[in-house]
Amino acid sequence: MSYIAENIREVEAKVTAAAQRSGRKREDILLLAVSKTQPVEVIRQAVGCGLTSLGENKVQEIMDKYEPMGEGVHWHLIGHLQTNKVKYIIDKVDMIHSVESLKLAEEIEKRAAAKGLIMDILVEVNMAEEESKFGITPKNAEEFIRELAKKEHIRVRGLMTVAPFVENSEENREYFRQMKQLQVDINAKKIDNVVMDVLSMGMTGDYEVAIEEGATVVRVGTGIFGERDYSNRGK
Ligand SMILES: *Cc1c(COP(=O)(O)O)cnc(C)c1O
Repeated sequence: MSYIAENIREVEAKVTAAAQRSGRKREDILLLAVSKTQPVEVIRQAVGCGLTSLGENKVQEIMDKYEPMGEGVHWHLIGHLQTNKVKYIIDKVDMIHSVESLKLAEEIEKRAAAKGLIMDILVEVNMAEEESKFGITPKNAEEFIRELAKKEHIRVRGLMTVAPFVENSEENREYFRQMKQLQVDINAKKIDNVVMDVLSMGMTGDYEVAIEEGATVVRVGTGIFGERDYSNRGK
């Protein structure tokens, strides 16, 4: 078995166990394979193991890999998205996880309308209010979502967060719990056109804790592909 197949088997077992601990089924959680910096030959191994949903944080990488990977895979944009690059990915990705400004939302609305599609998006929340991170503050989330809800070609599917980098994943449990609570609170407002059923949270270091606290999408890169080699980027 390849190292990727072995890694996936291990991650799958942990996802399943964490789902059970939170009283949910494995099928209720999407394991998103974060394929940034990985070449298509390597990504194909993960797809061959059944991981057909791929997360990238750079528009350029999606554009480079889109044709070679072909049909049957689902791309998710998980990193910061510049307004001027929306047009390149609007008809290539299933979901944009990183919507955190009205300017970006307006551009998504415009480009989605031009293509006659409705874009599924997540609102990126900077739950720990770290200065180095993108995302809106939890306090501004409801107002922001009310604005997004008015846009005909955007469907707000949920919330996403990039939790702090910590040695012990337990340190992030409280942030994941607050994310779940924010989702519940906003859903309770019954905003027109907004049914948030997606919580994208948890990475290699903390996806088990995130699932225990309600994640429906975990974004795992290193745990599947091993350490990233950034010197290959762009080749
Ligand atoms: C790189 C990245 C991940 C995956 O990180 P790992 O620690 O390698 O699992 C998840 N989410 C985002 C937004 C990323 O940029």
